[in-house]
Amino acid sequence: MQETVTKVELEKATETGSLNEKKGALGNFALKNAEGMQAWQDKFCEMSGVYAMCLDENGSPMSQFSGNPHEIEIIKKYVTDVRIHNIFKRVSESELEDQAVEITEVPNLRLAAVAVKSGKDTAAVWIVCGAFKDAEYEAEFYHVPPIDSFSYQISEDKFYRVLDLLRATLNALLAIETSRTQAVAISEESKAQELEMTSSFHRAETMTEIVSLLDSNEGIETIMAMILSKLCGYLQISNGFTCRVHHGNLMDIVVQWNAQGVNKMFTETTDQEVYWFLGNEKAIVVSSDSQMNAGEREQLDILGIRALVAMPIIINGAPRFYACITENREDRIWSIDDVKFINDTIRILQSIITKRIQTNSLASSFASLEAVLDNVGCSIYVRDIGTGVLLFANRSFKKNFSKELSENKLIELFESNIPSRSHSGNYEVNHKTRGKWYDVYYTRIKWVDGRPVSLCAIYDVTEKKLYQKRIEQQAYTDFLTGLYNRMCCEKDLAKYVDEARQTGRTGALMYLDLDDFKHINDSLGHQYGDVLLQDISNAMSRIDGISNSCYRMGGDEFVIIVPPENYSKMDKILEEIKDAFATPWYLKDSDYYCTMSMGVVKFPENGDNVSELIRKSDVAMYEAKKSGKNRIAEYSDNIDSSSIHRLDLEKNMFDAIGKACEEFEVFFQPIITFTQDKKSKKKIKHVGAEALVRWNSTKLGFLSPDEFVPLAEYLGLINPIGNHVLQKACECCRQWNESGIGEFAVSVNLSVVQIMQNDIVDTIKKCIEDNHLNPENLVLELTERLAINDLARTKQTLLDIKALGVRLALDDFGTGYSALSSIRALPFDIIKVDKDFVKDIATDNYSQAFVRMMAQLGETIGADICVEGIETKQQLDALKGMGVKYIQGYYYDKPLRRVAFEEKYVYNP
Ligand code: C2E
Ligand code: CA
Ligand code: CA
Repeated sequence: MQETVTKVELEKATETGSLNEKKGALGNFALKNAEGMQAWQDKFCEMSGVYAMCLDENGSPMSQFSGNPHEIEIIKKYVTDVRIHNIFKRVSESELEDQAVEITEVPNLRLAAVAVKSGKDTAAVWIVCGAFKDAEYEAEFYHVPPIDSFSYQISEDKFYRVLDLLRATLNALLAIETSRTQAVAISEESKAQELEMTSSFHRAETMTEIVSLLDSNEGIETIMAMILSKLCGYLQISNGFTCRVHHGNLMDIVVQWNAQGVNKMFTETTDQEVYWFLGNEKAIVVSSDSQMNAGEREQLDILGIRALVAMPIIINGAPRFYACITENREDRIWSIDDVKFINDTIRILQSIITKRIQTNSLASSFASLEAVLDNVGCSIYVRDIGTGVLLFANRSFKKNFSKELSENKLIELFESNIPSRSHSGNYEVNHKTRGKWYDVYYTRIKWVDGRPVSLCAIYDVTEKKLYQKRIEQQAYTDFLTGLYNRMCCEKDLAKYVDEARQTGRTGALMYLDLDDFKHINDSLGHQYGDVLLQDISNAMSRIDGISNSCYRMGGDEFVIIVPPENYSKMDKILEEIKDAFATPWYLKDSDYYCTMSMGVVKFPENGDNVSELIRKSDVAMYEAKKSGKNRIAEYSDNIDSSSIHRLDLEKNMFDAIGKACEEFEVFFQPIITFTQDKKSKKKIKHVGAEALVRWNSTKLGFLSPDEFVPLAEYLGLINPIGNHVLQKACECCRQWNESGIGEFAVSVNLSVVQIMQNDIVDTIKKCIEDNHLNPENLVLELTERLAINDLARTKQTLLDIKALGVRLALDDFGTGYSALSSIRALPFDIIKVDKDFVKDIATDNYSQAFVRMMAQLGETIGADICVEGIETKQQLDALKGMGVKYIQGYYYDKPLRRVAFEEKYVYNP
């Protein structure tokens, strides 16, 4: 229980802002500032009854001793700075000990130190002092009497548990933080790689299409338009145009291109004034964040341009045209690759135009063609089809394939696969001796002098190939979490089952499903859901014995195989899995609890067939869900039949809801409170009631909520059922209050699932209004589990509900999900101490102390205490004088049908 307090308080500590940041191992830690840490430590000491302070890795104090100053002064007489320093050294320098306890001159005063370590480094050391109550000691050894007047006293046993708790909590915090950071980093790296690969393939493809236009017979304007459209399309920008400048400051637009849904830039295409970015000898590159003067900026604003690249198209040494591409929709920062690509493209366009203009000047056109092709990113050669003679090879080709060229192996290597009569196309070539892969694009064109040639462009795609191979290997891996996937699970399981059968050993298969994962996804968004899945995967893969046999089956379902050779560690493995889920996960700056339900089967005992085993583990998992989630169920053949019962239950539940929920009957159990009449000083008894649902199913008989509420929650059907209960409860409450015998308050249970509904506040509001109910008479009970799941959002919803005037009760307090901090963080009016806690209250001191402490705490924060499950007079008597306001239990009455309740409490009180 206190573990939770710790984490939430730490969290708050970081929110208050950092005054005194500590570097080192504690730097990543939630305990980032001294003030917050002091507050947390004070609270921790108050709750656990010890005196403590914290030292940093060098032994300097990070916090003051918590506790009553006068008492601390006394402690410090015996626990001197020298002693603190010595015990600090003892735990921080030792590789074996991270905890030490020493006696002092005072017989019942102990000094302890707890070190929090990250690897070998000490992150912090807590000095903890405890004054033992009822300590036994040999008087002759001590000169000082025991201290018995201190406000914090603790039993020896509890003192050790407090030390364990402190160490476990702080270590868990360190571990969680580290694992989270790693998971996020890995996933981002591989996404970036994939993106980079795809974009470079796409670039090569587009460039090839542009190069193939060299051969086109279309008019220059058409080619300009085609190239512009390919270029702009590839870069995904909004506009592009080419223009011709004349008379120094006028221009005609030759071709305009615009993306779908974007306006053309120019309506008038001739005799436009030339803009500053055109008419230059050099390329102009303007990104959205580039600096420029006001006049330049104004022209761009008039045109609506946010980024641009403009280049001259140089023919015979002089700029004859300008090409300009612009982004008018959004900001754009050009990358070097973008600019290179534009430059390559414009050079090709340049050479096409040159070729056209200078048909009679073969030599010069060839020279410029060569210059262009030397600069594109692939290897290109041109070969005479008739003679086989190589007419042209660009620089890259000569560099990469000189060997093949000299050995005369070109045709064999790159052209032997060209289908006969095919004019153009592409295929893949594997160069075995080099261990390389190439994409070859071929086309038949007419050479500058008119003869038919074949042009081949060769791209090295080895990297892409290797990547694909990796992908194939990844067929067994779950991309998100890095765990193995279902396919791999089935393969491995078959292997382990065989092995177990042959060696006569046992293995286990565990099916694990997260509880209420949907809420985390819905409330935080999928990215955080993903991070959680990764965190969980990491936590599980770190568990010794299963690190290589955790699988993600999809969604929030995991399978863990305990191989026969590790079966002896089964108990420890289960413990560690439970531990992993007992601590909160840190997501989006807050703590989230995510529990899980798990089903376990053994093999070959429960089956030796893969799909049968998986099914049985699933059935057992479902059994765990049904009995309230957050637990582990072992498969037995009996539950197989109960899983049939579950299907029955499921179907009938849908039917029952279809029939306006009539089968769901609301019972009422009295909740008793006493007040004193001011005049007569007599005790007056008041009665309220908790509404408790039952299912009177025509098909299945009478079912108690424990038998169907978990399933209803799982299926989301608790919403209609819950609304039905709320409606009935409000209706009864109003009628009883109108009967004139006094004010009745009715409590209604709200499920976690209901609270997560976006319209829950409206639903409650409508129900109150429809029934003309005084909202003060409605109490809504929520379990603690809910309270912590998503603190910020839950808190807001509860505040909104409270604003309606209703009261809120925290149900089942003390059952394990509890966090004292949630009582303060959330606006509860009533705290219901769980019946488990009062079972032994008549005899057990601890239970008594707990209830008393709850009542005191309730008083300070203005909440009333209700104790449930009072069955006997002895239990009731034990509560006398403790300040408990409400009492509920079989001692007064079991939950009654409405008629019976009214008979007894409303009409004949
Ligand atoms: P709860 O909210 O803690 O309700 C109190 C449960 O304790 C009731 O069981 C009640 O019959 C039982 N109880 C009361 N006094 C005593 C006693 O002296 N001794 C013992 N041993 N038990 C006592 P019930 O009615 O079976 O309800 C079980 C749980 O089902 C409830 O626990 C609540 O969590 C859930 N539930 C019941 N009705 C609804 C509903 O309308 N909506 C939702 N969401 N949950 C409901
Ligand atoms: Ca309740
Ligand atoms: Ca309860």
